[in-house]
Amino acid sequence: MTQWQPSTRSVEAPAWTPPPLWQALRRGAANRCPVCGEAPLFDGFLKVRRACSHCHAPLGRVRADDAPPYFTIFIVGHIVVPLMLWMERAYEPSLWAMAAIFLPLTLVLCLLIMRPVKGATVGLMLRLGVTGTENGPDLPDRPA
Ligand SMILES: [Zn+2]
Repeated sequence: MTQWQPSTRSVEAPAWTPPPLWQALRRGAANRCPVCGEAPLFDGFLKVRRACSHCHAPLGRVRADDAPPYFTIFIVGHIVVPLMLWMERAYEPSLWAMAAIFLPLTLVLCLLIMRPVKGATVGLMLRLGVTGTENGPDLPDRPA
């Protein structure tokens, strides 16, 4: 009978040092690598670079998934809904006027906020050590 043994596979320590939390959030929100703050974080509007060109942190393996849209909806909702309620009480506009104002406003705010929120989320994940290499460095890369 064999007994369970803990995994002897060691997880390699990252070659880079995670920055302090606020620094990682601020750098990510500013489209900079959260680790070094030197190179751009995104390769396009929302596509994270595979690795930092300056410090080689594995930025592309950090999977933010649905967190940035969730935070974006949360933030924009807390801006738009109070404005809608205030305008409804103050001016009692027609539904068409409300839709004409708040639908484009919501869209524009989401587009403006999504990228910094995703950058900050990547910074948070790197700070917390959720780098996508927890199961070993030999995972296949995501398709481009
Ligand atoms: Zn870097």
